[in-house]
Amino acid sequence: MPYPIKHYIWTWDLASSPEELWPLVSNTDRFNRDCGYPSVTLVPPAEITGPHAMNAQRLRTHHFGLVLEWDEKPFEWAINRSFGVERLFQRGPFSCISARCELSPRQPTGTRLTYQVWFTPANLLGRLALKLGGATWQFHRPFDRVFHEYDWLAQAGLQAARRNRYSRFSPGGAARLATLKGTLIAEAGNSRELINRLTDYVVTVDDLDGQRIRAYALADRWKTGRRDTLRLCLQATRAGLLDFHWDVLCPHCRGAKAVANTLSELKSEAYCATCKLDFTAEFDRSVELTFTPNPAVRHVPRTDYCIGGPQITPHIVIQQTLAPNETRPVPLNLTPGRYRVRVPLIDRPWQLRIEPGAARAATIGLVTAAPDQDEIVLDPGATLTLINETGTARLTVIEHVAWTNQSTLASEVTSLQLFRDLFVREVLRPGGRIAINSLTIVFTDLKGSTQLYRTMGDAPAFGQVLTHFDILKSAIDAEGGAIVKTMGDAIMAVFPRPAPAMRALWVAQRQLALAQSVVPWSGPPGSAALRSPLLLKAALHHGPCIAINQNDRLDYFGTTVNIAARLCGLSTGADLLISDTVRRDTEIGELLKQQPDHVRTEVERTTLRGIEGETFEVYRIRRG
Ligand SMILES: [Zn+2]
Repeated sequence: MPYPIKHYIWTWDLASSPEELWPLVSNTDRFNRDCGYPSVTLVPPAEITGPHAMNAQRLRTHHFGLVLEWDEKPFEWAINRSFGVERLFQRGPFSCISARCELSPRQPTGTRLTYQVWFTPANLLGRLALKLGGATWQFHRPFDRVFHEYDWLAQAGLQAARRNRYSRFSPGGAARLATLKGTLIAEAGNSRELINRLTDYVVTVDDLDGQRIRAYALADRWKTGRRDTLRLCLQATRAGLLDFHWDVLCPHCRGAKAVANTLSELKSEAYCATCKLDFTAEFDRSVELTFTPNPAVRHVPRTDYCIGGPQITPHIVIQQTLAPNETRPVPLNLTPGRYRVRVPLIDRPWQLRIEPGAARAATIGLVTAAPDQDEIVLDPGATLTLINETGTARLTVIEHVAWTNQSTLASEVTSLQLFRDLFVREVLRPGGRIAINSLTIVFTDLKGSTQLYRTMGDAPAFGQVLTHFDILKSAIDAEGGAIVKTMGDAIMAVFPRPAPAMRALWVAQRQLALAQSVVPWSGPPGSAALRSPLLLKAALHHGPCIAINQNDRLDYFGTTVNIAARLCGLSTGADLLISDTVRRDTEIGELLKQQPDHVRTEVERTTLRGIEGETFEVYRIRRG
């Protein structure tokens, strides 16, 4: 005999607005932890038994000595308004638990929070648990405590709970922290204020936030500059205050789907169980560097309490699953801006713009064919009707296009001189290769060095060549780039973008000229007339390439690298060669415009040695 469904409705009147409460109450991972629920684990595909719900993830937990196992369907939500989830159990006293939380604005201020839960008992135990008030003890009471606490946090303007009661030092951790702080202060270039902030943060950060500390998110919150904050986090890792991990992000939902402790553990293929999608890791899109406190200072367990709530993928403002042949009107309530309506398995998303005064209704058919690219423009209060014309359930998400990306991507980190200097061993495994969609490659070569050695003598000439390396390294470092390798008097360097590379090369060329003008002539007497100035041939190109391990060093190869090398061969040393791709970069355009009049750009059409059958448009930039 099936047991009847038991339905509960609880309400709370809270002082904060729905918008203030949303980031807290929709963080289901933290909410479940704060309610005192046990952690959950994802059941590996090989261990899944019994019927498996479509698009669901199999999860397991232990509670009151019972093993609970369930298929969790994707959460559904609409930002600032509602979220809910359905769990279909394979093991435990219930066969299904559905929950839905709604936030509605109260007049004049505040929120009415309504929480509904539907229980379907699987057996007598489930039935009895409900009869004995299990829902009140297990749900209503902890919810009551946590919602009131979140209301207080929201009133205090705190977006995340900072719970000292969860933080604990490892044995000897406090003393170690004090020593490490001293080490960081002693290192040149670190602001004392930033060090204090970081060390305080390591002590007070909530366990769940501490699992994935993002340097750029800290920088944005503290207003301390992204590069400075990242540099300090890297130095703190080297010193032993932090550890870092490489997280592989799903390109669709941007959730972290795999973790590698070192680059050598990184695999180029990954799978997202949420999106049911195989994908390839890419250094500049899907590999993110995150930090966690070093366990010798503070132990932060990697624990999940919920894996699918709205705050796991905060750029998604609306997520809905439509049943086969379902039509669903979705009230948007979105702030003006650009959004994308995306359906996994349909390649091209719909473009959506929210603009006050625009249309108040539109309809989208979630067909299998790719949609046309027309932009849909709607009023913030409009309703978007989704029609699932197919015979299968369809997950639909609406996401922010200009969502602040606070990811520190692998392409950026590995282009930092400090990273390459501090973590020499952070290389891919031999034979490993990871794609990069865009990277700026720089080549330089010293012109006139052969003659310099001849006229000046080996030792002094060598000194000059070394000076040139120092000049280059500091110019490249200052602009956030890194030297990959040196080959004789030539170097190869990388930057995330072309503009900083161009600035670095200009500085290096200028300083090299300056350094020589002040160095007294130390060659053989009478040979000063033969003195030829050292000139820096330089070129940059930007494009896709592959990161590899070459001679136990993180190196790059591909056509972009070859073209940059060939361009350098065309440089006279009194100029800078850039490709057409670099010339068309908006930042480069701005940079050239800002320069005084004496910058001349000459365009040439040429073929490049080793790249036959193609003519290249290259630009020679001369500064007077
Ligand atoms: Zn995904």
